[in-house]
Amino acid sequence: MKQIRSIKTKLLIRIILSFVLLSIIIQAIVIASFRNFGMDASKERGLSVAEIIRDAITSFMILGVYDKRDIFLDRLKYAHGIKDIRVLRGKSVIQQFGQSEINGKTPTLLEEQVLDSGNIKSAVKEDLLNLEYVIVIPYKAVSNERVRCLQCHKATEGEVLGAVTVVIDLTKQRRSGVSVMSYMVAVSLFFSLGTLYIIYIFFKPYTELFLRLRYGFEHASEGDFSKKVEVALADEAGDVAKGFNIMTDNLSKTLSSIDNKVSILIGYQITKTANALKDTTRTVDMLVKIYNFKRTIEKDAVKNDIFMRIEQMLIEMGIENFSIYEAKLDKNTITNVISRADMENSARLGINGESSKVSWCDESILTDAGQCRAIRTGSVVNSQEFPLLCQNFICSQACSLDYYCIPIYIGGRVGDVLQIVYGKGRDEFTMTLIPFIKAYLLECEPVIEGKTFMELLREQSLVDQLTGLYNRRFLDEINNSLCRAAIRRKTLVGILLIDIDHFKHVNDTYGHDIGDKVLQKAASIIKASVRESDIVIRYGGEEILVLLVDAAEGNSIEVAQKICSNFQNESIEIPSGALNKTVSIGVSEFPKNSDKFWTCVKYSDTALYKAKNDGRNRAYLYKEDT
Ligand code: GH3
Ligand code: MG
Ligand code: MG
Repeated sequence: MKQIRSIKTKLLIRIILSFVLLSIIIQAIVIASFRNFGMDASKERGLSVAEIIRDAITSFMILGVYDKRDIFLDRLKYAHGIKDIRVLRGKSVIQQFGQSEINGKTPTLLEEQVLDSGNIKSAVKEDLLNLEYVIVIPYKAVSNERVRCLQCHKATEGEVLGAVTVVIDLTKQRRSGVSVMSYMVAVSLFFSLGTLYIIYIFFKPYTELFLRLRYGFEHASEGDFSKKVEVALADEAGDVAKGFNIMTDNLSKTLSSIDNKVSILIGYQITKTANALKDTTRTVDMLVKIYNFKRTIEKDAVKNDIFMRIEQMLIEMGIENFSIYEAKLDKNTITNVISRADMENSARLGINGESSKVSWCDESILTDAGQCRAIRTGSVVNSQEFPLLCQNFICSQACSLDYYCIPIYIGGRVGDVLQIVYGKGRDEFTMTLIPFIKAYLLECEPVIEGKTFMELLREQSLVDQLTGLYNRRFLDEINNSLCRAAIRRKTLVGILLIDIDHFKHVNDTYGHDIGDKVLQKAASIIKASVRESDIVIRYGGEEILVLLVDAAEGNSIEVAQKICSNFQNESIEIPSGALNKTVSIGVSEFPKNSDKFWTCVKYSDTALYKAKNDGRNRAYLYKEDT
């Protein structure tokens, strides 16, 4: 990961670099100035000394004491700062006067250059301990009022007569320069450090503010708005800190207000974490999902569609084992509408593969709704609260499973129960989902309630109240689809028109109530004689129409005969003893007899009429010639 430098470090590095650069430049300028100044001063001095020597030598020559010049030159060497003085003769002077005694040494390169060129030359000689400035000045032949060289010298005007080398010792100057430099470095270091310290102290609260802001923003981006920034500065930076605190406060208040409002809407407080942003996103997502869910189930045609959506929703959430029970409280029974078990639990329950046909509870609850604890108590049944809380959950000991049963209220009573089953290790996962599931169910309740009442109303309008059989309106509704299905599947619909023999006699002899009872018993005998999928309809007074679905040819008359014999054999209990009644049945087959349903019904009626005429207690299959 890239190392992030703090603003303080960055600032200090830049300031230190600037100071170092500045002091290097200043030192360099000072050194260069010092040196130039030293050199210029030495040159001036060298020139002065050379002029003095030239004039002195000239004077010595004029005065005729030229031989005394060495004393003078030696004295001059003791002058302050002069290290050496050499006087050289030029070629013409050597030719005229010979080599000088003091000039016996070989001229240096610099001196030769000056003698040849006639130009002043200088050089610096330095090592660790010494610094010397060497200047070689030429003497040229001039002839003016003051000096008349050509009077004695055999030379031409301007010719180099000689040169004087002055070696000036600058070691002392250098030493004092170095010590001045050292002072300057020390002073600038002192001021630099002082400035740095002042800058450091000044910027400290700002850099700390940045650090606190960074810390606050890091937490805020994780949804934690509790980290506040201390407002210690009374300037723009302080305003930024205040602004940050106000912003996090507002965000926190807004998010928790959203959470609370959504929780009120969905009926449950969603579990809070340290991340308010994620909590709100989750809550709003939940609200959107629930809203969509509600809109979808409102458009569902029947209650079973809603149960299937709850099933889908649970599977999507990762709940794999559950049941939905529907209570028929008027009958005190329960139907297991939807049930699922994953592979593992199906195996435990002895079912092959993942199953949607599983019963987590003892079957006794199906025939006695009061056996279901959730229905009886009207509250949540959570097996974690108490071991063996519900005795009718069959898997608690055998499979060591837990359960959580949520009652769904319909019309102020428990109408349905959602049972969630989970194994060890899934407790936490399941418990975190419970509030969501409850929120969904809460939205389902009014919709299920509406659908239940609609279905009940519809059922009632299609069912005969006395016998519990379907009525003629139901026949009107289903006959078309039933016939289409038979044609598509190439099967027959057996149409059995049943009429109780001498029923009027029952009414006349025992009264209308006993007549009703016989009618109810007749309905149950007939229902028991046919398959669950067959449709039994009270067609009129004591006439019952049975539609045998998916019948094969010849089946229908057999069933009719079975009904006749069942009827004959069944005694009907009445207060004054037992009564035996018989029925006559006319049978036709759709579409074999006619491709029009109502024509077939008419044919059954024809056959029934014949059965009555032939002595009753019999079943006749319609034949065209009858
Ligand atoms: P048959 O063998 O020819 O069918 O003789 P029947 O006496 O059954 O004659 P019919 O079919 O004409 O008689 C129908 C009687 O059923 C007439 C009516 O009083 C009676 N009935 C019709 N509906 C009800 C009902 O809901 N309750 C009772 N108790 N009687 C009914
Ligand atoms: Mg009749
Ligand atoms: Mg009758």
